[in-house]
Amino acid sequence: MSATLDAAAAPIAIGGVAYEVVMGIECHVELKTETKMFCGCRNVFGAEPNTNVCPVCLGMPGALPVPNRLAIELLVKAGLAFGSEIPAYSKFDRKNYFYPDMPKDYQISQFDMPLTQGGVVPFWLPDGTHGSCRLTRIHLEEDTGKSSHASRDGRIAGSTHSLVDFNRAGVPLMECVSEPDIRSAPAAVAYLEALKRTFVALGVSDVKMEEGSLRCDVNLSLRPVGQEEYGTKTEIKNMNSFNSVRRAIESEMARQAEILENGGRIVQETRGWDEAAGTTHSMRSKEQAHDYRYFPDPDLTPIEFAPLDVTRLRESLVGLPQARIDRFVSDDKLSIAQAHQIVDTPGLADYYDAATALTEKPQATANFVLGDLSRLANETGVPAGESRLGVESLAEIVALVEAKTINSKTAKDLIARVWSDGGSPREIVAAEGLGQVSDSGAIDTLVAAVLAANEKSVADYRAGKTKVMGFLVGQVMKQSRGTANPTLAEERLRAALGDGAE
Ligand SMILES: [Zn+2]
Repeated sequence: MSATLDAAAAPIAIGGVAYEVVMGIECHVELKTETKMFCGCRNVFGAEPNTNVCPVCLGMPGALPVPNRLAIELLVKAGLAFGSEIPAYSKFDRKNYFYPDMPKDYQISQFDMPLTQGGVVPFWLPDGTHGSCRLTRIHLEEDTGKSSHASRDGRIAGSTHSLVDFNRAGVPLMECVSEPDIRSAPAAVAYLEALKRTFVALGVSDVKMEEGSLRCDVNLSLRPVGQEEYGTKTEIKNMNSFNSVRRAIESEMARQAEILENGGRIVQETRGWDEAAGTTHSMRSKEQAHDYRYFPDPDLTPIEFAPLDVTRLRESLVGLPQARIDRFVSDDKLSIAQAHQIVDTPGLADYYDAATALTEKPQATANFVLGDLSRLANETGVPAGESRLGVESLAEIVALVEAKTINSKTAKDLIARVWSDGGSPREIVAAEGLGQVSDSGAIDTLVAAVLAANEKSVADYRAGKTKVMGFLVGQVMKQSRGTANPTLAEERLRAALGDGAE
């Protein structure tokens, strides 16, 4: 399979040669489980430091780990959603390195037999092109604790101490490793967004980036277009939002391009992203896998998957967001942005789907759902699905507008009214005479009254200031309590003022 088809991947000219950027992404995602990966401690964010800890996650001698079955199942579901292969056997390994927030001095991870292998993540780019990125693997490991350094976050300013909180130590973490298929910053962000919306939809993770439940590292190198061999790569760390990922990639591309332009060589290393400065800086030279002295964890037996388990997990995958986005774009002809917005707002895709099944007018339905309904949801804090405007009511409004029984102004008012008070839009229109006035005779009466009351505007119009037409149409709409057909109102006004066909 070839790399991402990506219109955003414009080549970079370096010394008269066209270069392309090549990126792979490693993404760490905390899994949404009640308890940690190998012990019964609670997996929650924001608890008092060092309150969710026990001998296992503190690495006390003799304490033995017991794997969390739900974490393994969630990870396998994530892999199945992207068509990954689930090998029959998998195992846990010890990754040995010293770090003060890792009490055991090794991390339980997976080396050569991960839970999933392969798979493809499809996504749409904002410009309407379709892209994809292959997955190398998704493996399961445990998170580390968290240190606070005086110099970094100021929480213990002036102190020479560092603090450590082990609440996060042992939280189940999945690492998604991609192939080097990404060719632009927009593709990197689209890939990460595709991962995020899938994990949220499956309940695999809540993916709160501000709480650090999704963290990613980008491997980036440049090479002349057409060259097969990769250039020397750097790994960028510490991005805490998709916007930071985009900025970090652009900054690192420019830095590498400048070095190559000046005849220099890229050093393989790990670089940190400085959010405030908008630049990357060298952290350390890159480790090799053998530096970690991986070996199978003797405290944990290998994992064996029964085919039935995999079948059961595969069957539990319903309503995957990418399939919905594809359907909204290809069948409903919505724009990429509309499809993403509907799918990324909790509950909105179900509402849109149910309403469209009744209206059979996808674009008109999407316009209301993303316009008035989203605005009301924001203003009232009530999601569309929980408001009193049921999908049947919205379908009635769409039908009334399509039939030109009501105009868009009346539709807007009705939506706001039914949203809070309930009721049938069709009955309200009939009872209160809100139907659009499309009778020329009735409109002409209003036009005559408006022209008589606005002599100055009439004179201005005749003197060539045609902009006053908007004002005059507004006056007719006002006289009709918003029920006049605005197109017809303008037509009759023009006729009365003597330009346009009688
Ligand atoms: Zn514990």
